[in-house]
Amino acid sequence: MTKRGVIASLAGAIFFSLVFPAVITIADSLEKVKAYQFVVDGEKWFTVAEAEKESVEEVLREYQEQYIKNVAENARIKKTGFAQRAFLAEVEVKPEEINPFAVVEEMIYAVEEEALEIEIKKGDNFWNLAKKYKLTVNDLIILNPDINPEKIFPGDKLLVRPMNPVLDVVIELENTVVEPIPFKVKYRRDNRLYTHQQKILQAGVEGEKEVLYHITLLNGYQDSLTVLEEKVLKEPSNALVQIGTRKTVARGGRINFGVVRGTRISSYFGYRIHPITGKRRFHDGIDIAAPHGNAVYAYTDGKVVEAGWNGGYGYCILIDHGDGLRTRYAHLSRIYVRVGQRVRVEEKIGAIGSTGNSTGPHLHFEVIKNGRTTNPLNYL
Ligand SMILES: [Zn+2]
Repeated sequence: MTKRGVIASLAGAIFFSLVFPAVITIADSLEKVKAYQFVVDGEKWFTVAEAEKESVEEVLREYQEQYIKNVAENARIKKTGFAQRAFLAEVEVKPEEINPFAVVEEMIYAVEEEALEIEIKKGDNFWNLAKKYKLTVNDLIILNPDINPEKIFPGDKLLVRPMNPVLDVVIELENTVVEPIPFKVKYRRDNRLYTHQQKILQAGVEGEKEVLYHITLLNGYQDSLTVLEEKVLKEPSNALVQIGTRKTVARGGRINFGVVRGTRISSYFGYRIHPITGKRRFHDGIDIAAPHGNAVYAYTDGKVVEAGWNGGYGYCILIDHGDGLRTRYAHLSRIYVRVGQRVRVEEKIGAIGSTGNSTGPHLHFEVIKNGRTTNPLNYL
């Protein structure tokens, strides 16, 4: 049903149940009174007595404010309004044309389509679910700002269709968030070391920038997001790593990340602040974009402690290297190792894929030092 259709039928029901009896019981009054009519896109929704104008305005304000409740506290609301042209017009009507106040909330809060929430099942990921519900992966991310796509598990709830009200609320806001600037890794070649050997001469430190976003929300969800301004607060400090050039196994490739031949880092390690909710989310590893099927190699000697399906990580391997060091390889298409198996540095352990929550083929690579994830860039 169209939005107009919903309101027409609502208005019809209200006319029948409320106005019609009034017409019979009250004889046609000649005296007209001052009243207010709520008009949406040229259509009359209801008429209230003059004394109730402020109460209607309060209902409208509360109706709009329900869509601000998830917005970050320090965000600045610039504009609140309706997508439709909606206003209260002063009119002169016969007293029997005035609707009872109960109609006001009923019409303002009218819903065209209820929200649809689904439960995650084994094997589900944002990619397949987006396809199933005719959305983009980005739509799903926008609808579920509190959910980390890489960490969904069976039983988790996911919103796939927001509630669609008849009266659409548009909110414009600005928010300033501090975001990290990734550091680069500079290599110093050393022909006395083998290609898999390396030494961190200087650890990298992320920089910081302040980003000013302009965001438009439609019924509480991001409709547009633009960067208005960026200010560098702290430049990143690059890492310096000594790497060997003596070859054992030839791997080559456009960019050799040691554990995989990839094309670029598509997502870095660390905190990101959600520009709308202001909530912090942590990315435990780095995502290296790489062609599907490319071999994934063990970071260094170790023992496989996990090999199999792991929620949003899809097919995933965890290797214990001793000395409190573990590495994780996620979103694989194939796994060539078993739990308990010993692996050697540069041994082929799996193949690049897009399983679990992944929008395209890539390796999510994690380095865990003494139980805590740490920036893998300092280890590659
Ligand atoms: Zn990742």
